[in-house]
Amino acid sequence: MESKIDTLAKILKDSTRAVFFGGAGMSTESGIPDFRSADGIYNQNLHRRFRPEEMASHSFLVKHPEEFFDFYRQRMMFLSAAPNAGHKALVRLEQQGILAAVVTQNIDGLHQLAGSKIVYELHGSSRHWHCMDCGKTYPMKYALQEKNQPIPHCTECGGVVRPGVVLYEEALDDAVVQKALRAISAADTLIVGGTSLVVYPAAGMIDYFRGKHLVLINKTETKADAQAELVIRAPIGKTLAEAVDRLMNE
Ligand code: ZN
Repeated sequence: MESKIDTLAKILKDSTRAVFFGGAGMSTESGIPDFRSADGIYNQNLHRRFRPEEMASHSFLVKHPEEFFDFYRQRMMFLSAAPNAGHKALVRLEQQGILAAVVTQNIDGLHQLAGSKIVYELHGSSRHWHCMDCGKTYPMKYALQEKNQPIPHCTECGGVVRPGVVLYEEALDDAVVQKALRAISAADTLIVGGTSLVVYPAAGMIDYFRGKHLVLINKTETKADAQAELVIRAPIGKTLAEAVDRLMNE
């Protein structure tokens, strides 16, 4: 009997504009916790007064900037995290003309670090910071410099410099969403990985897919399992790497 990895390799071989849609599970294999999982930070009591979701919100950044940046540096930044086998497999697929785009809910920037060129980050990126007043951009490491503690300020105008991520109460960047939807609408294959598809609006985006092969790779059940051609219950990074190895060694 053909294994699911073989089937995935065959689907990829048949694809020229596949899209990968990834969630937190993509980064857990790089040591970054899934914020929303049962033992993730959103379900922990980290602070005596505030819940983590509250601390990752726009109003919290405005009202309690010191605590916001303290929380953000400690809990939302993973400086030593490196791309895993799954990120690298997606780079190979892009280079082979199989994968057209990566759409991700993650903010760690690991896809670009691995070498992917077309990446749509629905929730922004922790690697790019900017001044809330004048928009001047800063690299992530600016926020970590001693002189910028506890609150990083802009060298041009003195405004607060914040991470370029979508916080609670903030809308997704419409331009990014439109590009992601265009890629998904035009895709011949959609691989959804490392997400249980519960977080909207990102999760609703897969409804735009009209292509041939829908593949779901996740450790637990997802909302779209019934619609999929192939469902693989396994870690996403390992699965992608095996399928791409199979494909390349044929
Ligand atoms: Zn500024």
